[in-house]
Parts: sequence; structure tokens; C-alpha cells
Amino acid sequence: MSKFCQNCGAEQSLTNSICIECGKPPFVVFNEKDNSELDIAVKVVSFCIPLVGGILYFVHKNSAPQKSKDACSAALWGMLVNFILQIIATVSGA
Ligand SMILES: [Zn+2]
Repeated sequence: MSKFCQNCGAEQSLTNSICIECGKPPFVVFNEKDNSELDIAVKVVSFCIPLVGGILYFVHKNSAPQKSKDACSAALWGMLVNFILQIIATVSGA
């Protein structure tokens, strides 16, 4: 069984790690990562509902590290603000 080089199209044995024609790795799997930031609206949702941010963190973890990071920090800030608000509510209610 054979495949073709992704760089120059030369036929390769599957065991080739370097192309005999162009000298580059012939079977590179391009796993392009999405480095864009999280949408501001999604950030707000993650902030208001930290659970959503947590889910988004795991959803984007491998494919879009920046989005995952944004979702995580939005969720953490959301939880922190929630926590502070609860303390304030408890203190002022006592
Ligand atoms: Zn090649």
C-alpha cells in the first residue's frame, strides 16, 4: 500500500518518515489550532453561568486553546463574583 507526499505528491511507502523526493515529512497531519479568542457574548454567558464556561473549557481544550482559556477565566471570574455577592448578601442579611 502506498500514499502520496503531501508536499510534492511523490508516491511514498507508508513507512517513510521523510519523502524521498522533497525530504519533508510526507504524512504530516495538519492539526490547525484555532487561536481566535472567545466571542464576547460567549464570555458574558460563561461569566454569568460558570457551568457553561466550564463546559466550553473542555469543548475547546484541544482545538482552540485560547477560547478554552477565555472560557475558563470567565467562569472563574463569574464564580468569584457570585461568591462575593453571596457573602455580601449573607452579611447584609444578618
Ligand atoms: Zn515530497
